[in-house]
Amino acid sequence: DLKGQVAVISGSTSGIGLALARAVASRGGDVVLNGLGDPSEIERTRAELEASCGVRVRYHAADMLKGDEVADMVAFAKHQLGRVDILVNNAGIQHVEAVEKFPSDKWEQIIAINLSSTFYATRAAIPIMKAQGRGRIVNIASAHGLVASPFKSAYVAAKHGVVGFTKTVALEVARDNITCNAICPGYVETPLVQSQIADQARARGISKEKVITDVILEAQPTKQFVTTDQLSGLFLYLISDLGASANGAAFSIDGGWTAQ
Ligand code: NAD
Repeated sequence: DLKGQVAVISGSTSGIGLALARAVASRGGDVVLNGLGDPSEIERTRAELEASCGVRVRYHAADMLKGDEVADMVAFAKHQLGRVDILVNNAGIQHVEAVEKFPSDKWEQIIAINLSSTFYATRAAIPIMKAQGRGRIVNIASAHGLVASPFKSAYVAAKHGVVGFTKTVALEVARDNITCNAICPGYVETPLVQSQIADQARARGISKEKVITDVILEAQPTKQFVTTDQLSGLFLYLISDLGASANGAAFSIDGGWTAQ
């Protein structure tokens, strides 16, 4: 039961972030949503979550490219909902290209959104969590926070950075009843991956089905996508009191990918 707790989840208008927001709200926690998208669609999602779960759901439009807006999102949660118990640094983007052709702007954006926003939000949340005497920080890294694939230099660098940042923060707040962990999912079928499937099909001149089996799930021994429910299961453990000793770790949920 998360009644009385407040979660701030970056990139929660879609995919994994939205699923984690539902996991919190359906257990009674209040949520600050964030992310890009059509404003009326976002408002529909916000209102639906609020009404169906009977919790308070707010939306903050912080652009994860901008550190001051990221910090503002955390302050907004404290101001609007009174607390910040759970911070989920989830927003992320991908770009797939050989390193020698990798566009500078894509590199900068991926580092800013996938890595630096995690720093800005965490820096803003820790004083609030310390004052409350408890906190949970969960960073959505990736299997690519632990191993590499070709053509994803910025993403792999950023996600390895997230895992390193997670460890450092965990050490700094270990005595404050705050934990900081990373979840490292394998492939989850979200809009982020669906667009990669389409891009790869075009680039390789093969069907989307073939991309799924031969390219996407090639690395994933189960040959199954990871589901957002499976990620929610670990997430709910990490934010619970039972998760108190899980700290500074990178948890793989990848169908065996990184065991290879
Ligand atoms: P998604 O595209 O469905 O969701 C990404 C979210 O981030 C969206 O809400 C989007 O609006 C938001 N976002 C993007 N740029 C933003 C910006 N500048 N400011 C604010 N919000 C922004 O993708 P997803 O698959 O749900 O990815 C969520 C996280 O999980 C990412 O960090 C991703 O790297 C990670 N991840 C995904 C997979 C997968 O297979 N889908 C695997 C491992 C890790």
